[in-house]
Amino acid sequence: MTAPHSVDATHLEVRNLSKHFAELTAVDNVSLSIERGSITGLIGPNGAGKSTLFETIVGEARADAGSILFNGKAIEALSADQVYRAGLARTFQIPQPFPEMTVLDNLLLAAPGQLGETFWAPVIRPLAIRRQEEEHLQRAHEILEFTTLSRVAGLAARNLSGGQQKLLELSRVLMGKPELIMLDEPAAGVNPALTNLLMDRIHALNDQGITFLIIEHNMDLIMRHCQPIIAMANGRVIFTGTAAEAVDCDELLESYLGDMSAIPS
Ligand code: ADP
Ligand code: MG
Repeated sequence: MTAPHSVDATHLEVRNLSKHFAELTAVDNVSLSIERGSITGLIGPNGAGKSTLFETIVGEARADAGSILFNGKAIEALSADQVYRAGLARTFQIPQPFPEMTVLDNLLLAAPGQLGETFWAPVIRPLAIRRQEEEHLQRAHEILEFTTLSRVAGLAARNLSGGQQKLLELSRVLMGKPELIMLDEPAAGVNPALTNLLMDRIHALNDQGITFLIIEHNMDLIMRHCQPIIAMANGRVIFTGTAAEAVDCDELLESYLGDMSAIPS
């Protein structure tokens, strides 16, 4: 028996979420739901509130109103670290690696639940710590293999190209074994070959059951890879539907006219 609108089918749900910065309402009473197993696209002109929505969902910023349900459980009061551990991760519009550290160390730092971080742990359970460190190291190498960054594992992160930095962002969040990954403009400033590679990896992860929510201005990418598509403007959701319906949505087109720099390419 299938129940497409049961709690199970909904992986992430946002209800009446608002976030203000002084008198500016960056996210204005947003409600949306992300279906489990989907690759959902989130579009909208610059300043629409997309990145702020991500920040509030993952607990980096506190919403002023509304609720956020992940796997049917309220997460709006959790810390960013707790949300990450719950299996919900995001990447940044501008990659934020530790630039002087190696690619490999950037991944190891993203591993959750590091026993060695507790003050007494080295005294009490050195073996368990060593085992966990070995597990993390193995996992990091597997991920770098998967994201094609093995060859640059020993380089400082600052030496990577823009596209490689995006792959590093994805690699880092994979250390947390996420169920749902939110990507903030993964193709921005990335050459087409690396964008294709990134999307190929995203589909492979999606085939393994990971849900995606992707903010992008690259309309070709959104149309080819995302279903459904949600559009925001002025902090509000103005459209939800298929790529074909998005093309016909006048309100969506108008929302971009005030922001020529972000006209979808
Ligand atoms: P988008 O990602 O869709 O381009 P943002 O979420 O970055 O939009 O921004 C939405 C609005 O909120 C913009 O007007 C932006 O200037 C404002 N904003 C975002 N972050 C902050 C902040 N930390 N402080 C003040 N205003 C902010
Ligand atoms: Mg943004």
